Amino acid sequence: MASLTADQVRLIANQVVSNMRFDKSGSQNNPSVIYEDSSRPNASVGVFSSINSAVKAAQKAQVQLMELSLAQRERIILNIRSWMMDNAEILARKAYEETGLGRFQDKIIKNKLVTEKTPGTEVLRPEAVSGDRGLTLMERAPYGVIGSITPCTNPTSTIICNTIGMLAAGNSVVFNVHPTAKNVSIYNIELLNKAIIQAGGPENLVTTVIEPTIQSAQELMTHPGINLLVVTGGAAVVKAAMTSGKRAICAGPGNPPVVVDETADIEKAAKSIVNGASMDNNIICVLEKEVFVVESVADQLLSAFQRHNAVVLKTYEIEQLDKVIFDEILGSRKPGKINKSYIGKPIQEILQKIGKHVDDSVKLAIAPVEIGHPLVWTEQMLPVMPLVRMPNVDQAIDAARDAEHGFRHTAMMHSKNLDNLSRMARVMNCSIFVKNGSSVAGLGYGGEGYCSFTIASPTGEGLTHPISFTRERRCVLVDHFRII
Ligand code: NAD
Repeated sequence: MASLTADQVRLIANQVVSNMRFDKSGSQNNPSVIYEDSSRPNASVGVFSSINSAVKAAQKAQVQLMELSLAQRERIILNIRSWMMDNAEILARKAYEETGLGRFQDKIIKNKLVTEKTPGTEVLRPEAVSGDRGLTLMERAPYGVIGSITPCTNPTSTIICNTIGMLAAGNSVVFNVHPTAKNVSIYNIELLNKAIIQAGGPENLVTTVIEPTIQSAQELMTHPGINLLVVTGGAAVVKAAMTSGKRAICAGPGNPPVVVDETADIEKAAKSIVNGASMDNNIICVLEKEVFVVESVADQLLSAFQRHNAVVLKTYEIEQLDKVIFDEILGSRKPGKINKSYIGKPIQEILQKIGKHVDDSVKLAIAPVEIGHPLVWTEQMLPVMPLVRMPNVDQAIDAARDAEHGFRHTAMMHSKNLDNLSRMARVMNCSIFVKNGSSVAGLGYGGEGYCSFTIASPTGEGLTHPISFTRERRCVLVDHFRII
């Protein structure tokens, strides 16, 4: 899919959005920017005190959405893109301040990426078959009201991405957001409602509860008014959704390995790995979480890392760091329990705890370890990257498969050998496999393809998009309308 640039999105939205009711808090030149200190007359649109009232309002809104034309739905999506582009920075700042996770600048990139590259109504193409017995049409219908549970690691980018895809498909959505990101998420949902209303859409196409909790998430999962669940998070929420009795699209955890073989462009591999693994301080599910490098090029890779904003740790430093970043180590080849206060923190802050000072240009620490080290087996979500030397590429690929725990989420390889690349692709069998680039290329950032921040590996949809949120419906006309 060819994606629109930020300027194109703004231009089209400005052209097509009729009925411009400028928000009092924005300027006429840039009506969709809502500043922190502005008055917010519609502050409660979409925000409810209970799951039941949030679902009821979303049900009513979905019926109203279906009464609008497709062209009106497209206008709504375009206006959402315009508002989210204008507010990408404010949302990033609020997410960073509230969660304390990741990097502010990277959160802007994530917000803009989903705003530009999440597909809209254009992908909902009908299919037709005609023959001697007439014409059969397959169309994509909405589910109705979707219940969506979102993570603290990408709070706004997940809400924006899911909203665009779900509304484009004709659904409304009730969010139960992560409690530690509730303020920015609610703010995001209010902005979405304002963008929708400004484009002529109904109120409450996107709703949430003012006090999201695990209990409210569970209430959402079993509410009779919810037609489809879409959950994005760790293993516990995936399990809860899969046992809820409802149809569920589950985007679960990952532990993406990267293999570097002896044929790789080592300089490029080092740069790609650092750029990927350090993004938002490694809290994104697709990012490189462990490196398996073929022994013959391991030293080359380690020295290349140091030319690309990474620091290589010594064995005694890794031993000290283990005591800091792990709450509990559960044994060789087993995930440990990460100390949550270091998740998403800058490498400077983490290394300071062992008395090591690195300058601000450093984005990642590389920890050369043995294969059984818990960092290899843990989805660490912080910028310390384990690296394991492997005797040959086949053993590296097999180790990558084991370390990924069968999540089938994401894997990367740096190689120029087609046999090796093909073997890794088959063995990993992941939703995303990136060759010779950063993990984020798999999200369409520095790579081709659309973006999604809800990558459903356990239930098989992969990178979700509007079609994931539809039901196929068949309409058959017998013995007529084959017109050739
Ligand atoms: P988390 O699992 O702690 O929380 C995710 C959401 O689920 C939150 O809204 C939380 O309140 C809810 N939740 C958690 N346990 C629940 C339960 N038992 N019942 C009902 N709701 C429950 O995850 P997080 O820390 O916010 O996010 C990080 C995790 O999410 C990582 O494992 C990461 O890999 C994964 N993730 C996956 C994707 C993907 O697309 N596959 C995207 C982002 C994050």
